Amino acid sequence: MRTLLPTALAASLLLPATALAAAGTGGVAPGETPPKQTPTAPRQDGGQGSNGGAAYGGEPPAGTPTTKRRGARRPKPHRRKRRSDGRPLLELFQVSRSSLFAYGAPATVRFQIGDDSPTVRVRLLVLAPGQRSPLRTIDLGDRPTGATQTYSFDGRAGGVLPQGAFQLELSARDARGHRLRTTARASNVHDLSFHWHRFPLIGDFDYGRSADGRFGAPRPGHFHQGQDIPAPEGTPVVAPRGGRIEYVDYQAGGAGCYVVLDGAGEDRDYAFMHLRRGSVVVKPGQQVRTGQKLAEVGSTGESTGPHLHFEVWEGGHWWAGGKPVDPLPYLRRWDSWS
Ligand SMILES: [Zn+2]
Repeated sequence: MRTLLPTALAASLLLPATALAAAGTGGVAPGETPPKQTPTAPRQDGGQGSNGGAAYGGEPPAGTPTTKRRGARRPKPHRRKRRSDGRPLLELFQVSRSSLFAYGAPATVRFQIGDDSPTVRVRLLVLAPGQRSPLRTIDLGDRPTGATQTYSFDGRAGGVLPQGAFQLELSARDARGHRLRTTARASNVHDLSFHWHRFPLIGDFDYGRSADGRFGAPRPGHFHQGQDIPAPEGTPVVAPRGGRIEYVDYQAGGAGCYVVLDGAGEDRDYAFMHLRRGSVVVKPGQQVRTGQKLAEVGSTGESTGPHLHFEVWEGGHWWAGGKPVDPLPYLRRWDSWS
């Protein structure tokens, strides 16, 4: 690499740009020599400056707008003719989440399409990796062009999606059948994961060391019907699945403060026990979403320390037709993606 200027001089020439950059990008403190700047200083010798030919040595750090127009040697490139081929042009495509849960908070899809016609027909495709034919095709109808549009995606249109990784792809056609054109700036594809349940705690936890906290461990007169999950007092307890709150109650000699949830779209109930006193934020009959906070970990009732006692009942309701099953295999799986 040729160096035309002594390092110190090159660095001092760069100071104005550097100072500006420091304001915008939190970059380089005054007095420090920016490591990547010096080698680029000789660019003024006719090299093809990628920023259109700054008059001063060195390229400003990426994102510095100020030197762009200064001493430009060539005219700004002509604005590309928009829609030169008559196709609708994707101007914006954003999805507010990359991880979604069934019966959880939906993702907001925002898009904007430019075209000569006032509306275009828009579809949202859900694609599995490596598959060309979509798992779901969601018709978003005729949407106005030139204005931002939104759609709420919950993974349930056309039937609840299977679990896994997917891509959302926006497609559109105008009245003459011309298909959507995308650009490097606006891709029409967004990666997304979708799962049916999430882990019921947000924060640190473990599964306990002794077999005593496992499902099926002997208890006087019965057996342990759930899995104990030690966690710090106050750890948020969230719904592993959306649904309806069945019970909020207190049992001094056993469960302490507890909540029972009836999972939506499945034959399962969930029970959460020993919750911190006063921490329950749901009421019987209330609908909740997957991931919504229900209460906090505590140690109320018959408990020796803060933990969540978690039960899963299948084939009916909690203490009303259902049977408790071992929650641990579920918990481990949910933990792997939550
Ligand atoms: Zn327990």
